[in-house]
Amino acid sequence: TYTLGPKITNWDSQRQKWIEQNLNFPNVVNGKARILLVTGSSPDPCETPFGDHYLVKGIKNKIDYCRLHGIDIVYNMVYLDEEMTGFWSKLPLIRKLMLSHLEVEWFWWLDSDALFTDMVFEIPLEKYKDHNLVIQGYPSLLEEKSWISLNTGSFLLRNCQWSLDLLDAWAPMGPKGTVRDEAGKLLAANLKGRPVFEADDQSALIYLLINQKEKWMEKVYIENSYYLHGFWLGLVDTYEELEEKYHPGLGDERWPFVTHFVGCKPCNSFRDYPFEKCFKSMERAFNFADDQVLKLYGLRHGSLLNPNVKRFRNESDNPLKFVDELDIRRHKVIDS
Ligand code: UDP
Ligand code: MN
Repeated sequence: TYTLGPKITNWDSQRQKWIEQNLNFPNVVNGKARILLVTGSSPDPCETPFGDHYLVKGIKNKIDYCRLHGIDIVYNMVYLDEEMTGFWSKLPLIRKLMLSHLEVEWFWWLDSDALFTDMVFEIPLEKYKDHNLVIQGYPSLLEEKSWISLNTGSFLLRNCQWSLDLLDAWAPMGPKGTVRDEAGKLLAANLKGRPVFEADDQSALIYLLINQKEKWMEKVYIENSYYLHGFWLGLVDTYEELEEKYHPGLGDERWPFVTHFVGCKPCNSFRDYPFEKCFKSMERAFNFADDQVLKLYGLRHGSLLNPNVKRFRNESDNPLKFVDELDIRRHKVIDS
């Protein structure tokens, strides 16, 4: 059967040794475990220029968040393995990065169609010290074998042997063609709510975790106390209300951390929702986030649907006042 590469069995000790020998590449910086945000898109252009425009907005949004929080970022546009195309491409990519960037403690996969909508919130990494995979989801839905019980559009994977083993166990349904098509039928027959289509990485992970619960679940943290991924419908219409009532840094329904445009397929035309609704909603999410970034500079979008900005305070001869007050990098700890 298919494998992602030669079997590796002693990664933890190899990595530990490397870290000890490369003190100029620390895995912990300023007391924080090093995170690499991993995202990407297809090698080919989108079907319309709109799609590509929103890919640019998606990466702009991620660069902003990562810059503000000292997170490195990788944007991939190639298939590292020609069998693992489309949504499966994240598996060989994460494995390759894991084996090449030993200083990175956590790899954080984030879909191209997921936008940061809380520019202040930070992932509470201390909470996950005993876990290797952190993923948004609902244990009760997983119990019911629902195909939307977990979302693979945003998850954290620790750089360790366990994760390499998980990737190995997760990958076999991925190879395009017969293998992927047949596996799709198996997943549709076994997971609640799943339509018949080629095997996808999300269903395959859910299926694996259900069937080998004893083997994996101890190290999986199912997160739902904030939006590591938040389904866009129901979130995008609340932004103005949230701006009146709350402030960034909360990450949950009061100020969603990530808004993910599941089913919108901005880059191709097989979407589950109307074009207008998707693109307007993406524009709103983008501008909602952008206003949080622009605040330091005294600018904001005319409205959440307006790409143009206006000045909301006068220029000052005392700019440091605004730096002290508004630089997100200096105000990460916010009371809820
Ligand atoms: N992706 C990629 N290369 C591809 C197709 C997808 O890197 O050729 C990434 C992209 O970031 C995308 C994610 O994989 O958001 C999930 O793929 P999917 O087909 O589910 O696209 P989505 O619905 O997220 O747009
Ligand atoms: Mn997505």
